[in-house]
Amino acid sequence: MAVNLTAYQQVLQELAPYHARLVAVSKTKPVADIEELYGAGQRIFGENYVQELAEKASLLPKDIQWHFIGHLQSNKVKYIAPFVSMIHGIDSFKLLQEINKQAGKHNRVIDCLLQMHIAREETKFGLDETELFELLERRSELPNIRITGLMGMASNTDDETLICKEFQGLKTLHDTVKARYFTDTGTFRELSTGMSGDYKLALAEGSTLVRIGSLLFGARNYA
Ligand SMILES: *Cc1c(COP(=O)(O)O)cnc(C)c1O
Repeated sequence: MAVNLTAYQQVLQELAPYHARLVAVSKTKPVADIEELYGAGQRIFGENYVQELAEKASLLPKDIQWHFIGHLQSNKVKYIAPFVSMIHGIDSFKLLQEINKQAGKHNRVIDCLLQMHIAREETKFGLDETELFELLERRSELPNIRITGLMGMASNTDDETLICKEFQGLKTLHDTVKARYFTDTGTFRELSTGMSGDYKLALAEGSTLVRIGSLLFGARNYA
């Protein structure tokens, strides 16, 4: 089996001093790999594709916390609303409204992270600051959503200074949002940053949830 349990234990040790949590990103990987990491104690798994997530969730233990980390289309929310534990990539109010509606049907409140566009690349999804604040002003319209933090993906580059700057900017924004909108509650506490290549930088810049795939499961093969 391809799971790197040595890397898993090492990542857990690195996260511990920061009290950060690991989202093991299992997209495209077989159920057997997830079972192996589950056996080692991992409970939070991240997936990017709705159908794949729904299928895996039906086959695997019910105490797994499934995080949806991909780009979610409104018309597919209904398939994951009954069980998903957190949705990371929210980039529109319309999507939040649909999640709110579907969560309501199951009497659930779903934790959601708002995705900010922090990278240089045009291709990465996410909100700009104006859109973020517009969306936050309307949060009371969504009783079945709990906005628990922000998510971001740094530029795909070897330039560590740039990556750190992007993560830092997001942390500063997180602090601003928390102070302005969530002073009375402890619910706005997550900063989802860092992947296999840059999670150490993300931890140093305040990450509370790192999303790591290939380091644990090996390179992905998109056949
Ligand atoms: C695939 C993916 C990851 C994991 O990437 P690795 O480089 O394999 O660790 C993290 N976050 C998101 C949003 C992803 O799509």
